[in-house]
Amino acid sequence: MADNRLTIDEIERWLRQDDPARLEDLWRQADAVRRQFVGDAVHLRGLIEISNHCVRGCRYCGINAANDSLVRYRMTADEILACAHRAVDFDYGTVVLQAGEDPGIETEWLADIVRRIKRRTPLAVTLSLGERPVEDLICWRKSGADRYLLRFETSDARLYGMIHPSSPGHPDRMELLGVLRRLGYEVGSGVMVGIPGQRLHSLAEDINLFARLDLDMIGIGPFIPNLHTPLGSGELAPPIDPAEQVPNTDLMTCKAVALTRRVCPQANIPSTTALATINPESGRELGLTRGANIIMPNLTPLQYRTLYEIYPGKACINETADACNACLRTRIESIGRTIGSGPGGRKRISNG
Ligand code: SAH
Repeated sequence: MADNRLTIDEIERWLRQDDPARLEDLWRQADAVRRQFVGDAVHLRGLIEISNHCVRGCRYCGINAANDSLVRYRMTADEILACAHRAVDFDYGTVVLQAGEDPGIETEWLADIVRRIKRRTPLAVTLSLGERPVEDLICWRKSGADRYLLRFETSDARLYGMIHPSSPGHPDRMELLGVLRRLGYEVGSGVMVGIPGQRLHSLAEDINLFARLDLDMIGIGPFIPNLHTPLGSGELAPPIDPAEQVPNTDLMTCKAVALTRRVCPQANIPSTTALATINPESGRELGLTRGANIIMPNLTPLQYRTLYEIYPGKACINETADACNACLRTRIESIGRTIGSGPGGRKRISNG
């Protein structure tokens, strides 16, 4: 078995590796570590995109506040509860409530929804609602929320400052990840692969940071240009040597997933929708066979789904929840994996 402790330089060398035979070794190692530490079960997390309102100006994201070409929506409590019940019908173990950073999602309103889901279903509840005040995170944890997803997007501080204008007076994402951990959430983070201006060395540092943060969940997807954003329209083009630029390809995303599995053997790692978007044919399967163990089927009602346009051409955008469920199960079984049951939280086993 390969040693899974990789230095930043070793990670970077793998990211630059283009020899198919050597890459086969990387895929094999990542798949073996995945099987040993988290097993063959693929856990399904039902994604509910509860609001596309957002007060932030993230330069990569299609639902940022400045995009006035988008009709905004916020789901009602009853609609969210109905989606959670569908998750139970489909035998998913978790629902993920995701949204733009939307102060219209009021603290008590969401706490009540979390309590109702926890009282009426066996589901684990994951929140992905951006940089909320610490008081909100405390309240939602007390209401029963189990997990929180907040990607740090890139560990390159200069690039991050360019693409993610900060919210003055509020803790930044790194601080919030520590707060979430102390509050007892399972903590998820992650990055985009191939952000204009992102260097191969900084992607290697991101992967090393995942291990140092001991993250429970790690989401890695390719950057997909959105014409309604400064970064996607080319209006904001950070200067960089093309030889150092991370390509936003399925291959580079798979390398990042595989290396992340090696350095974070126990983490829950999704094969992301963004990967399936740039490779509709086999992106899901490539992720799952190169280190990932989680899939997030979309449960958002169809009339809202097209409005949650973070990036264009999102995989499965017009598929009903039933169709998504059936398709993803077939894909998982076609590669000889099983469907996980129960919440599928982070397992802590000794890496000795
Ligand atoms: N408001 C929440 C949820 C955002 S959407 C938050 O900010 O955490 C979830 C993730 O989608 C983001 O963290 C980002 O990594 C990803 N994303 C946003 N725009 C993208 C793009 N253009 N291409 C690929 N991924 C994108």
